[in-house]
Amino acid sequence: MGRGRSHPLDNAAIAELLAVASSKAKYPLQKALRRASRRAFVWPEEAADIHAAGRSLTELSGVGPHLERIIRGWLDEPPEIPEPPSIRTGFLTLPAARAILSHRPKWAALLRGDLQTHSEWSDGSGTIAEMAEAAVERGYEYLAITDHAQSLKIAGGIDVRQLRRQAREIEQVNASLAESGQPLRVLRSIELNLNPQGEGDMPPDALAELDVVLGCFHSALRKTEDQTERYVRALHNPDIQILGHPRGRIYNFRLGLTAEWARVFDVAAELDKALEIDAYPDRQDLNVALLRLAKRAGCRISIGTDAHGPTQLAFIELGLAAALSARIPEDRVVNFLTRSELCAWVGGVRDGS
Ligand SMILES: [Zn+2]
Repeated sequence: MGRGRSHPLDNAAIAELLAVASSKAKYPLQKALRRASRRAFVWPEEAADIHAAGRSLTELSGVGPHLERIIRGWLDEPPEIPEPPSIRTGFLTLPAARAILSHRPKWAALLRGDLQTHSEWSDGSGTIAEMAEAAVERGYEYLAITDHAQSLKIAGGIDVRQLRRQAREIEQVNASLAESGQPLRVLRSIELNLNPQGEGDMPPDALAELDVVLGCFHSALRKTEDQTERYVRALHNPDIQILGHPRGRIYNFRLGLTAEWARVFDVAAELDKALEIDAYPDRQDLNVALLRLAKRAGCRISIGTDAHGPTQLAFIELGLAAALSARIPEDRVVNFLTRSELCAWVGGVRDGS
């Protein structure tokens, strides 16, 4: 298989077996298998190790007694692993990401913050204070709150008035962080919703007040024709500095868009804008294969967990590992900048636009 796995059956292989089994099963087993296949990417340990240690696999998310029996059967007698289809290709598991990061411990230590997170203001589960507390625990210098902008109603998108009210809450959280001597500051940001023409859904003057602006596509994501021009238009949008979850892919659900990526990355490099690694396990977008092309173009890369709750800040390891695996140079990772360097970069991009 050439996957270089350290176990006869690693979690990626189990995920694939679960996905294939799901396609042959009936409801409700079908749904349970499909869910477990997705969750396998964030299981904290290799299932094979847990099984070898005589522990129960039901400690893994999405695994009940029935699925445990199925997975144990595979571990005891490994079946042939089919090559995953494109819709399930290029996703790292947490143990695989940690193995990659363990080869260069200095890499993860360069991280200063997370640049895509959601709060209760849109579709997240945590308050800004709770998200900040989780970021303090991780030793961050900054955390960008990127709640959805107004047109994404399904995700509780916020309008200009809410964005300004949110600013006051961020100010209060930052004041109390400063008072308690914490280095963390919450950055004002937003996940701007871009239409296929690359236009945003918020007035530019409201965006100019923010520390950094992320723009993302959320519509027409199943187009199969080349979307290079859409990306070029989005990158030229003067209000954004980061293009988030560029392909719009979702594990086992949506393949995402295609483009002449080398050209997209060249345009980003020319405009000094960043493309994102959305480290949410189901997204992992950009993935390692595209990051290798981005590396060649020399464009900036931003890492965001797309966390919808405080515990999900942990997904950052998937993004860090993808960037390291693609050998993105340190100075191209936006999250390795200090807070003042980050603000200087955003200012420079705005002046250039
Ligand atoms: Zn999004």
